Amino acid sequence: MIRGRFAPTPSGLLHLGNAYTALLSWLQIRQAGGQFVMRMEDIDKPRSRPEYALQIMDDLRWLGIDWDEGPDVGGPYAPYTQSERLKLYEDALERLRREGRLYPCYCSRAELHSIASAPHGLSSEGPVYTGRCRKLTAQERAAREAVKAPSLRFALPNHGLSFTDGIQGPQKLPAGYGGDFVVRRADGILCYQLAVVVDDAAMGITDVLRGADLLDSTPRQLLLFEALQLQPPRYTHVPLLFGPDGERLSKRREAVTVAGIRAAGTPPEAVIGRLAYWAGLTDRPEPLKAAELISRFELSRVATSGIRVSSDSLQALFGTSPADANREEGSSPAS
Ligand code: GLU
Repeated sequence: MIRGRFAPTPSGLLHLGNAYTALLSWLQIRQAGGQFVMRMEDIDKPRSRPEYALQIMDDLRWLGIDWDEGPDVGGPYAPYTQSERLKLYEDALERLRREGRLYPCYCSRAELHSIASAPHGLSSEGPVYTGRCRKLTAQERAAREAVKAPSLRFALPNHGLSFTDGIQGPQKLPAGYGGDFVVRRADGILCYQLAVVVDDAAMGITDVLRGADLLDSTPRQLLLFEALQLQPPRYTHVPLLFGPDGERLSKRREAVTVAGIRAAGTPPEAVIGRLAYWAGLTDRPEPLKAAELISRFELSRVATSGIRVSSDSLQALFGTSPADANREEGSSPAS
């Protein structure tokens, strides 16, 4: 059985970029007659808000995207909210620890930035770690332990990695790619990479389709699957949407949110029509229901490079410019 998922982090409203990947992931699974899972990735509690989780699900339903299992409908792999699954992540961490795959890291943020200079550079996840604390002796560790709570890092194996992405094609990464990464922060918060691997495996996810900004995370996740002896899914990373100014749509100052589009009185079919057109699934941005796209979905037609959306098309969705739409949303209702 084919199983996919949409796994938003409820630290903000659903924006067009999220809606784009949610739609494509949903289409991939629905076309294959598979099951679609909604998972709330609120593992970083301080950044997450339950109101956002509810609004994200409401916006997706409004767009016509549904799920077979999720926080609101339950299912055989419940709970579907990461903050309620901490025991599973702790167990995985314990297993990695027992097998000697983790080590404590005492480096401060400033130290990390200073040791990450030129030859190692930065990955999308921050500075590439040189493995400094991996080499500490037991004595050095004890001395540092006395003054600072450590984070826990996963020690990369000394082999490279290859996988084939559904859109980006064959990927080959050398040993050590990205550096040893943090699986538990010094403040005790468990990290995305570990939680997502544990959950994708536990929930029987076979196909992950997500934004190309996460392509860099995939080697890390594959190495965790390997270390935990779990079956990894197939991955497809779709190119991101960019605004008329060339900035990532999700990062724009005036976020282009689905809630803002709804507030402007735009029907969901207009949004789906635009998303499908941007994706390359249709020739014109004509209004469409999400379900009408299921039979038309073809991964080979999906755009393979970043898409720059025009200000006209944003205006068509917001009725006005997104900045004005967001202002209206923020003010108190007229009646
Ligand atoms: N929760 C992650 C995010 O919102 C996505 C996780 C994933 O799709 O693997 O960026």
